Amino acid sequence: NVYKQVDIKNLLHDVSALLETQANLNNIWIRQEYEDCKLLLQCDQNQIKQVFINLLKNAIDAMPAGGNVYLSCKKADGKILVEVKDEGEGIPEELLIKISEPFFTTKEKGTGLGLMITYKIIENHSGSVSVQSKVNEGTIFTVSFPAADGP
Ligand code: ADP
Ligand code: MG
Repeated sequence: NVYKQVDIKNLLHDVSALLETQANLNNIWIRQEYEDCKLLLQCDQNQIKQVFINLLKNAIDAMPAGGNVYLSCKKADGKILVEVKDEGEGIPEELLIKISEPFFTTKEKGTGLGLMITYKIIENHSGSVSVQSKVNEGTIFTVSFPAADGP
């Protein structure tokens, strides 16, 4: 298969570089913080890039007036934990169960497919995802994958 062992720090750095120019033009700053150790993931690189492109784009869309996106990664208990945290509009509690449904969108030009694809890819990598959100404060997506090199 196409799964390769990669250090997810490099991958997150690439994704961040890809979106940074456009983000900065909208007064959004991507703050990266990676634990200083190998963060190895056995993965399809293009799919995992797609995951974090989707999450970062949603974070950017949630901050029309600008703000910070905190992208961080660390290892704990044999898991790679990646957090995408924004200071945006947040998600009302009653909508949290809907956001991963296909075609659910609150955006004028949204497709509502990003999170469905994102969750599917994470699942295919034996990972999991959780969301915490407060309206008018922001949202945190935490993605967890098994570390390729164990605990
Ligand atoms: P789209 O971006 O095309 O709307 P997604 O599947 O990526 O589709 O997201 C579905 C919906 O989930 C969005 O329309 C939005 O309402 C909500 N959402 C996702 N991420 C965030 C976020 N970081 N902040 C606020 N709302 C979000
Ligand atoms: Mg989206």
